[in-house]
Amino acid sequence: MNSIDKLIEIFSKFPGIGPRQARRFVYHLLTRANGALEELAYHIKNLKVDIAVCDDCQRFFQLHHTSKQEGSPHVCDVCSNKTRDHTILMIVQRDIDLESVEKNDEFNGIYFVLGGSVPILEKEPEKRIRIKKLKEFINLRQAQDKEQKIKEIILGVNWNPEGENTGDYVAKELKSITDKYKIKITHLGKGLSMGAELEYTDSDTLKNALKNRS
Ligand SMILES: [Zn+2]
Repeated sequence: MNSIDKLIEIFSKFPGIGPRQARRFVYHLLTRANGALEELAYHIKNLKVDIAVCDDCQRFFQLHHTSKQEGSPHVCDVCSNKTRDHTILMIVQRDIDLESVEKNDEFNGIYFVLGGSVPILEKEPEKRIRIKKLKEFINLRQAQDKEQKIKEIILGVNWNPEGENTGDYVAKELKSITDKYKIKITHLGKGLSMGAELEYTDSDTLKNALKNRS
């Protein structure tokens, strides 16, 4: 396979990109100067060097060099921020949803990133999202000191069939834990309009959705 075909194949696997768009990307790259291609290759090569997965919320985040010491926990700036309300946990599907909510500056709790969604009729949902990690995280928090204990879980899933299905699955899986610790479960989606995705939600809509969550 030549480089053009190989790159088309690679780009075709990107979310939302079909073979035709992938081909367009490759021909666009061919028109660029060598320096621009080297810069792109450099950033791709280094993308994961300074990036870690947060031990708490599971998001990808940029490591600060000071926190890179051997053995120190990898916790992102949201999870390590003591001024945030650690008793409210918002569960989101992807990193991009977390970023979108953060950008809107309306939510001061903490997050957990599921890392995907559960399609309807999925036979092995536990392989699609980090449900085991989520249970461990909540159990660990409940065993800690008072101000870290989770009192409310907000299902911040997309308000579409797959998002709803994901939310239902998470709520069902967490039921024994939420019953045991009397954690309230609320849905963000009820304040959003049908089909809404967190990624594209603006500040006012999010503010309303948070206010009207139930
Ligand atoms: Zn985190």
